[in-house]
Amino acid sequence: MMRHALGTGMTSERTRGRMVTRLRHQGVTDEAVLSAMAAVPRHLFVDEGLSSRAYEDSALPIGFGQTISAPFTVARMLELVGAGDPRVRKVLEVGTGCGYQAVVLAHLVAEVYSVERVGALLEKTRARLWPMRIRNLRLKHTDGFQGLPEAAPFDAIVVAAAAPRIPPALVEQLAPEGKMIIPVGQRVQHLMLVRRVGQEIIEEKLDTANFVPLLADLG
Ligand code: SAH
Repeated sequence: MMRHALGTGMTSERTRGRMVTRLRHQGVTDEAVLSAMAAVPRHLFVDEGLSSRAYEDSALPIGFGQTISAPFTVARMLELVGAGDPRVRKVLEVGTGCGYQAVVLAHLVAEVYSVERVGALLEKTRARLWPMRIRNLRLKHTDGFQGLPEAAPFDAIVVAAAAPRIPPALVEQLAPEGKMIIPVGQRVQHLMLVRRVGQEIIEEKLDTANFVPLLADLG
């Protein structure tokens, strides 16, 4: 039996339905992204004491000084990076955290790789994901500034923490026509969309953002 406040049945399904309606009002239009968000039980990714707040549009603490990104942030980033496009097959996420966005991605694309620098957080997340039996998600304890060269190139890269500048290793690991979405900045952050188009790299500055920092040393 699941003992989360919302359970896994109708109540949480209805609550997710309301979350998806809100995401549509906030301007998310990608149907594949919306249905993945409707499918993944977000309350299972936060501690029990917070599960009644799991579907609010806010970031919540997940321990280790880290947060689970707000639903709109996740939906917006996945939409911008084209995760709902069937041509996008292999994706790298930097900053696994509680694993929520990685699991939403695993609903959308064939292969997901996610890297996290905080070893203890990654172990907790592995334990949480184990019963979910997600076969197309690989997790690794490593520094996301370096990306994951052994699995590159990626059709899309989603960075879930703010970098002072765009890490060159991640740009190198973009497949032809690949896209990366990354919050850049320190006090003031913006989402940057980085696209590989032929021989060129095109950078576009989008929404303001508020992410925890991407830290280089392994903690
Ligand atoms: N993807 C999560 C959000 C995670 S918050 C979600 O679905 O809600 C950002 C995460 O990035 C934190 O867990 C943090 O520990 C991690 N992180 C910070 N710097 C990193 C680095 N250099 N490499 C990999 N992960 C990093």
